[in-house]
Amino acid sequence: MGVERPEIKRAKLPPPLDPALRRLETAFERLGPLPRADIFSQPSGPHRDCFSAKKIVNMFFAGATKEELAHMAGCGLCSLKLSRYAQLTEQALPEMVTQGLLARVKGLFVPRQQARAAYCGALLHISEPVIGINPASDPTLDFSCDLVVGVEGDLPKIDGPSIQVSGPICATGATVGSTVLAGKKLLRVRFEKAHVAEYVRREVKKHASVSDTLVIRGHLEESSDLDFQGQATVEFTSK
Ligand SMILES: [Zn+2]
Repeated sequence: MGVERPEIKRAKLPPPLDPALRRLETAFERLGPLPRADIFSQPSGPHRDCFSAKKIVNMFFAGATKEELAHMAGCGLCSLKLSRYAQLTEQALPEMVTQGLLARVKGLFVPRQQARAAYCGALLHISEPVIGINPASDPTLDFSCDLVVGVEGDLPKIDGPSIQVSGPICATGATVGSTVLAGKKLLRVRFEKAHVAEYVRREVKKHASVSDTLVIRGHLEESSDLDFQGQATVEFTSK
């Protein structure tokens, strides 16, 4: 007669979006109630395509589409939610920084104040997220993307030389202009001769396409201690 073993319950790992959603909900609560009147002041009442918390997290993770930017331009409530999420990333950074082993080691040498540089989330829009490359020849390309840094108010000035793009494309220093998309003024950032990462060219040679996350970061010109960071998914195919 065998001893009955207690059933071992394994904790399921939460999906990666969960902590971000929890932080978003906490920030919404901490920053005070959302003005519900805004919902009702819209001519057609609550919009059917208003952003859910999950959608907002995804916009900062995978990039914003033209349709999402158009909705943001016309909906005060969604703009406010996005703005609050962008501010929230500033608070979330120290938490993320302390997670990695390398960051912890670095933390031993970097004064605490310095490690907690202020940081805000930026929405990244890539109008042509499928990029054709010739993996056998030129490893560089000219690349532009649009950025929403600071959802409310005027466009902030960003410091072109400080802008870096990393991931499947790498470059430092960009030309900054502006553009209007779906009624929303955006910063247009252009990189010349950005380097396509070796792994992307290798994968494109083998497969039809490869997707990865592009990260863009830089400093705000007016307040040099404030950084921004945005990211979006891009796909590379052979041309
Ligand atoms: Zn909305």
